[in-house]
Amino acid sequence: MMLKDILNRIDGMREYAVKLLMDIISKGGVNPDYGGEGEYDKAMYILETVKNWGLGEVKTIYVNDSRAKNGVRPNILVFIRGETSEKLWIVSHLDVVPPGNLNAWTITKPFEPRFIGGRVYGRGAEDNGQAIVSSLLAAKAVIDAGAKPRRTIVLAFVSDEEAGSRYGMEYIVSNYPELFNKNDVALVPDYGKSDGRFIEIAEKSILWLKIRFKGLQVHASTPHRGVNPHKVAIEFLHLVNILIANRFGSENPLFDPPYTTCEPTMARNTAGSPNIIPGEHEVVIDCRILPEYPVDELLKSFKNVASTVREVFLKEVEKNVYPEIEIEVINRFDSPPPTSADSPIVKTLIQALKELRGVEPVIGGIGGGTLASSFRKLGIPAVAWATIDNTAHMPNEYSNINNLIEDAKIMAYLMMRS
Ligand SMILES: [Zn+2]
Repeated sequence: MMLKDILNRIDGMREYAVKLLMDIISKGGVNPDYGGEGEYDKAMYILETVKNWGLGEVKTIYVNDSRAKNGVRPNILVFIRGETSEKLWIVSHLDVVPPGNLNAWTITKPFEPRFIGGRVYGRGAEDNGQAIVSSLLAAKAVIDAGAKPRRTIVLAFVSDEEAGSRYGMEYIVSNYPELFNKNDVALVPDYGKSDGRFIEIAEKSILWLKIRFKGLQVHASTPHRGVNPHKVAIEFLHLVNILIANRFGSENPLFDPPYTTCEPTMARNTAGSPNIIPGEHEVVIDCRILPEYPVDELLKSFKNVASTVREVFLKEVEKNVYPEIEIEVINRFDSPPPTSADSPIVKTLIQALKELRGVEPVIGGIGGGTLASSFRKLGIPAVAWATIDNTAHMPNEYSNINNLIEDAKIMAYLMMRS
């Protein structure tokens, strides 16, 4: 049987997978937004591998970025013709985040990968090296077995995922719309749980706000002469809590937690001493919003809360009016409508997990952004799924090679059946 042959071939590439992943980690790829030289070396290595293997037709998209090595951010698309021109996209990203505190890397240095106890350690091992290698393996096994995939496969290796995708997926979507079709489906192996059962089909919107409360600095023993911006901030945050619970309080069981959240995460003030009422207080809040609520609606409500609070504390001192409340959006992601649980990619993935692993998949949503949303925005059903131990962005990041191999098999199944 063809599928059986393909799966056996993947098992046979285990040692090679380790080497491939270690080579990929050693090429670095820190995103220039975080001071790195970018994805060039890693992309060239993958390009060479794809060409040596004769995997398919290659399209490279280089986006100019003077900060990056050789001035470009590379994106590689590999097309493997299937029985139909409808595509199955498998998308992984080339860039990585910086290592962070080097002293915390106790197994090996971030870009000197080490294979120990069935795991490959190094920055980018799991995020997103594992997906790069498993998708390459799956495609190679299909080609070597002489099989023809059902859909046309696109292996996409893209830049800049860790910093907004302006040089990666978003660039491709804006500049090459002809590549995408509503009948396509997409797999983004960049999110998952260690048991491999979780299939992500929805994301919350994200809104980060920096809110500046401007009061009037005075001695703490004479608060009546000033305006205390701490108090203004506390009242504001209190009313935001009530607002979120009431006006934006509905629940959606796809998500955990099933409701919209808005959490204060950072605070800063200008008082250098316990007996000073500061002139300014600054708070950052991180909101994760259910997709059924437009982000604009939340923003508008926050502005209304700000004017209510301002009224409460309003005071004129020497012709100046206090307090002032400024709301600045520092990050915003409007989540597209979720992928339907009945879409072909979800159904085939469920089938694959049942058949190859004997597990019962769980469908749900998450509070963060993956590249699946780029496809959902275009109306293309997309899932984020992988089997990972969630060591991304941490010191001693690793990929479990068992997971890598077993994920490659699921991808091969999708290539043949989706
Ligand atoms: Zn990632």
